[in-house]
Amino acid sequence: MNPIATKVAVIGAGISGAVCASNLAKNGISVTIFESARGPGGRMSRRRETSEDERELYFDHGAPYFTSTNNDVEEMIRGWEARGLVAEWKQNFGSFDFNTKKFVNFEKEGLSKKYVGIPGMNSICRALCQEPGIESKFGVMVGRLEWLENEDSWSLKDVNGQDLGMFNGVVASDKSTFSQRFTQVTGKPPPLDLNVIPEISDKIKDVPVKPCFALMLAFHNPLSSIPLKGFSFENSELLSWATCDSCKPGRSTSSERWVLRSTEKYAEGIIGKAGLEKPSNAALAEIAEQLFQEFQRTGLDVSLPFFKKAHRWGSAFPATSIARDEKCIWDRRKKLAICGDFCVSPNVEGAISSGLAAASLFSESFSCL
Ligand SMILES: Cc1cc2nc3c(=O)[nH]c(=O)nc-3n(C[C@H](O)[C@H](O)[C@H](O)COP(=O)(O)OP(=O)(O)OC[C@H]3O[C@@H](n4cnc5c(N)ncnc54)[C@H](O)[C@@H]3O)c2cc1C
Repeated sequence: MNPIATKVAVIGAGISGAVCASNLAKNGISVTIFESARGPGGRMSRRRETSEDERELYFDHGAPYFTSTNNDVEEMIRGWEARGLVAEWKQNFGSFDFNTKKFVNFEKEGLSKKYVGIPGMNSICRALCQEPGIESKFGVMVGRLEWLENEDSWSLKDVNGQDLGMFNGVVASDKSTFSQRFTQVTGKPPPLDLNVIPEISDKIKDVPVKPCFALMLAFHNPLSSIPLKGFSFENSELLSWATCDSCKPGRSTSSERWVLRSTEKYAEGIIGKAGLEKPSNAALAEIAEQLFQEFQRTGLDVSLPFFKKAHRWGSAFPATSIARDEKCIWDRRKKLAICGDFCVSPNVEGAISSGLAAASLFSESFSCL
């Protein structure tokens, strides 16, 4: 098969899908990305908000930064740094202990390099989705993946049954493509029917996930009593992490912005009662207030923010990895790759290495045809 004529659909413009798409396109494969959200990034998204006094505010409300110990991933990061998409965030990190009301476990600066997207965490995905050979379609939720044996191809449809085209291969970069979570959210069966892929169906399990809430806060003045710009919380039932968004390189410093992350236990408690439906604004406002009050209970001098909003991440972190050393699940015959952090490890590094693995399996398999 001529690789120029080869068309691959990538479902999801998070970092695993975007990295995979970029590497496929570099190998001459024509790629179409379908992303259900309005823009790229997935759990590396950047949120635009407007305060009551009409100020534009940006928050990295998903992953605040990422690290890497993997050589292939580090090589990619160096390339992104050279393009100005990523910079190292040099800050001292540590923990805050609610019992002693003290900062503890200070991490030495530079012990592990922390990277952030410039000017927001979504910058890498955004740039990759615009590379030559890639067509990106946002606001399109794939609802059906149909294998056409006679054509040796996949036919894709959106959730409303609209035709999205035929492809020689498919990369599914979100676990909802094959899990019951899709049904819980849309009321429809998952796009991928496991009976079509008996060779790999036993490897694809419904991946358990851990939820969390993110709290976005903006202050007129810096919280100068807080010595660290990123820290975890110990001995809090409600809060697990805090990062100062406006202290990252390349961000506007016209206000001080923090993103706090709730504990999984707190989020599970809320979702257990309210279910998976989209939370109302009133429910999110109550959650924002509860998390903010816990932040104030640190005893640190936390002034009243001029902006405060909570966001629910129903599937923030996968609780298992389904591919481990193989890094992605691959059906060579049908040219179907399943990649994402849930294949390797619940972080950006895991998602990147899974996307890289999927692209290299595709490229190898198309080049030997
Ligand atoms: C609050 C929070 C904090 C985090 N902190 C860190 C951290 O400090 N460090 C770190 O390394 N990682 C962190 N992570 C984890 C990290 O963000 C993820 O591991 C990584 O971004 C996952 O990338 P992915 O491509 O596998 O999945 P995703 O980013 O989830 O991408 C999947 C994409 O597929 C799209 N999609 C799904 N179904 C369909 C469909 N049917 N049709 C079309 N599109 C579809 C989704 O909209 C999504 O954009 C954090 C995550 C959260 C939520």
